[in-house]
Amino acid sequence: MKAFTLEEIKGAGWLKEANYIAGEWVAADDGRTYDVADPATEIRIGTIPWVGVSETRRAIDAAQTAFNDWSMTTAVERADKLHRMAQLVRDNLDILAEMLTLEQGKPLAEAKGEMKLGADYIQWFAEEARRINGEIIPSPWKDRQILVIREPVGVVGAITPWNFPFSMLSRKVAPALAAGCTIVIKPSEFTPFCGLLYGVLAEKVGIPAGVVNVVTGEAAAIGAELTQSPIVRKITFTGSTRVGKLLYGQSADTMKKLSMELGGNAPTIIFDDADLDLAVENATVGKFRNSGQTCICTNRFYVQDGVYDEFARRLTERVQKLKVANGFDEGAEQGPLINSAAIAKVELHVADAKTKGGRVLTGGKRHELGATFFEPTVIVDAKPDMLIAHEETFGPIAALFRFKDEQEGIDAANSTEFGLASYFFTRDVARIFRVSRALQSGMVGVNAGVITTSEVPFGGVKDSGIGREGSAHGIEEYLNLKYINLAGL
Ligand code: NAP
Repeated sequence: MKAFTLEEIKGAGWLKEANYIAGEWVAADDGRTYDVADPATEIRIGTIPWVGVSETRRAIDAAQTAFNDWSMTTAVERADKLHRMAQLVRDNLDILAEMLTLEQGKPLAEAKGEMKLGADYIQWFAEEARRINGEIIPSPWKDRQILVIREPVGVVGAITPWNFPFSMLSRKVAPALAAGCTIVIKPSEFTPFCGLLYGVLAEKVGIPAGVVNVVTGEAAAIGAELTQSPIVRKITFTGSTRVGKLLYGQSADTMKKLSMELGGNAPTIIFDDADLDLAVENATVGKFRNSGQTCICTNRFYVQDGVYDEFARRLTERVQKLKVANGFDEGAEQGPLINSAAIAKVELHVADAKTKGGRVLTGGKRHELGATFFEPTVIVDAKPDMLIAHEETFGPIAALFRFKDEQEGIDAANSTEFGLASYFFTRDVARIFRVSRALQSGMVGVNAGVITTSEVPFGGVKDSGIGREGSAHGIEEYLNLKYINLAGL
């Protein structure tokens, strides 16, 4: 249930309708703005600057200036600021989660989960700041010492999507700051407030001006400036593979370090020997959380012949119980999709599946709640030539493909250019090891549908990207190695 009004969230200073550059809250140079709407009601919740090249350049310059001092702070100082930031989020979890639901639409319980996860990432990297160790390598020269130190890469550009507007940024901002980098953030135009929140948090915990900057507006112009600027030494991007490849290309001339967290098309394999109750429960959460708008959501269910009909029946029964509602309603389990374009894509995938022989067991159309709501859907008799087999649907559709033996299931799961997450359900220990190794993805869930936590290296292979976020590896993305050769000892 909603506990705060929009005015209260704004009044408390959490929802900012300005950009944060060099420690100042500013408007666009030409005064341009755009409106941000609640996806559930399509009612305006705020108005944001629509900036472009000149403001982005100023933000980059501010980050460069701030880098001189910030990179020379001690790890303990940086850790302290990040610990305070994590605590601030936890102390204000309820109101911040409401702001997230307002702009993104997800059920409040999920928004609280995302805020908690974001705070966890911030805390994790606060801790990692103190473990950026060097190395001493045994020297082949008698009179020399070989040292390796880790240094911050410099100014970072971060571009993020709307589906997890707070937590996606936390695993970029926190390791960047922990490493001693400064950052320019560009959140999605659909969910700018959770991005601007990093300006608010930085200000509140006393992070110096220019260390964190947030700009909102024209994606292509801001992206071009961030990628082409020689000052920016690293781009960290989460979003679609199409835009990721564009930014990768644009970054070539200035030879930047890159992290690309891109699209997925996750398979879940249900083997004949699976615990079906466990599989149905995890499949439901893994597929339908955030209305299916999660990069690691299952897009394709491969179900073995022997349990296909039973799994389809039980999943349909479970999915029919999902409560579709405004994210603020008590017990809401599936909220709206982000916008009408998202609904159109889901409709296209359902129509395509139907014309190619797919049967809709439940759902399959817009929900009566409004233009951005879609019924949780189960489709059986899915085929490899359907759109849903190749493209990320990013919506609440579970498509069930049939397979006969283990190798056929593995081959089908791998038959995609994506490689972010894969899941499978079985009780056979030998099969667990065989299939875990055979699946072409950066992450594998075995008898589990939810696998994200700050302790693990999150990321993909193939067209799902490069680099890892979270875990001890996540901070390496913001560090350069420097080798020092000390002679004449
Ligand atoms: P998107 O269209 O690629 O947008 C992502 C971000 O890129 C947004 O901030 C967007 O700005 C910006 N952008 C768009 N065009 C740009 C350009 N020409 N230059 C620079 N920036 C540009 O993706 P989305 O629809 O927001 O997010 C969904 C996608 O993200 C899915 O494919 C999902 O799988 C992926 N994702 C991946 C992960 C992961 O960890 N691998 C996690 C979450 C999501 P505007 O929104 O302002 O246009």
